Amino acid sequence: MVKNMTTPMDESEIQAMNKSFKILNKRRKKLLDNEKTRKLKERVRQIREYSISHLEELKVEAVEKLQSNGVEVIYAEDSNEALKAIYSLVKFENTVAKSKSNTASEIGLSDFLQTKDIQVVETDLGDRIVQFTDKKKSSHPIGPAAHLSMEEIARVLREKFKREVKSDPQEILNAVKEDVMDELSHCNVGITGANSLAAQDGSLVMVHNEGNISMVSLLDTHIVIVGIDKLVGTLEEAISVVKLETIYATGKTSPAYMNVVSSPSKTADIEQILLMGMYGASRVVVILLDNGRSKTLKNSRESLLCIGCGSCIVTCPVYDVMGYEFGYGRHLGGRGVVFSRYLRDKEVCFKSGLFTCTLCGQCTLDCPMEIPTNQLIEELRREMVEAGILKEKHGETARKIKKNGSPYSQ
Ligand code: SF4
Repeated sequence: MVKNMTTPMDESEIQAMNKSFKILNKRRKKLLDNEKTRKLKERVRQIREYSISHLEELKVEAVEKLQSNGVEVIYAEDSNEALKAIYSLVKFENTVAKSKSNTASEIGLSDFLQTKDIQVVETDLGDRIVQFTDKKKSSHPIGPAAHLSMEEIARVLREKFKREVKSDPQEILNAVKEDVMDELSHCNVGITGANSLAAQDGSLVMVHNEGNISMVSLLDTHIVIVGIDKLVGTLEEAISVVKLETIYATGKTSPAYMNVVSSPSKTADIEQILLMGMYGASRVVVILLDNGRSKTLKNSRESLLCIGCGSCIVTCPVYDVMGYEFGYGRHLGGRGVVFSRYLRDKEVCFKSGLFTCTLCGQCTLDCPMEIPTNQLIEELRREMVEAGILKEKHGETARKIKKNGSPYSQ
């Protein structure tokens, strides 16, 4: 399970992140003001509203449909169940390949597998770079290395590969690609997340730009870890969701790749006899994860509308100065703080930055789902006060000030 992040970002990382967010914001601006985007936003809001209001039915429908498509489904109530299930699938492997997945990070999958002597190869460029750093922290759900300057990345790679890597974007790309391709040749199992899951069709939709998910999902066994909050009704709805996510996350109208996985690889080219395992995975296993999402639905319902675009952190004034310290794991920013209450507990929620938020509401303005995160945070603050946690925490601070003097009076 992910511990709350305590290692602060240093000033150079904050600067690199803000520079990267500024470029992203500029690229998105025209697209976000556009009429077509506004219509898509309305449509996706309806889709997500319907989905979270019918989560139980969609869950049952998705499991039935996936299974009838030949996909194995394991329902995991919490991160321990998910880790146990994944371990049972990969325990004979030395190395597994993985693509970017906030859900896998949420359950602490890579660290867990490492404790079992199974190496995880991150195949996303940004994730692979972050994996080589000491802190191993991501600053944006889609652009995990946004806080690292080119010079810093080159330094990290030189140290890792023990050879010269110039501070040049193409040289960095080539160095990481060579390393990942070499590792991939030893892998039989690929682990990915999914951006959306269409219950009626039993289809998982994954978007990416690098082409890594295509490679990872074609290994012998493809494990997909997906939260129940990614459920929607139809494949057409799932595609609308990921299209809007792409616009808000990257400032592009469509990703380079959109993979739809509905079954293991198969063919009936010889006398209509069904054969499995042609070029793609002969086994597809979906880990359908709750891990506090049902509790979130009962208590902070609107936060489940999230499509994971990361737009809310790009202009957040707190994230601007604190970076990934504000939020929980890869659930970054205020919405991550809210999520941590149900994924973990009150204590983690407090440490994730419950009382750091300015309640300015900027994230709601920038969120395609208009999630009222500031209101949800206020409700959680009230809960903390009522539970006496705030009194206890402020008491600790007051005792420190009494002993050491106030930092403001020096
Ligand atoms: S809360 Fe809104 S802006 Fe933030 S990641 Fe979710 S959908 Fe995107």
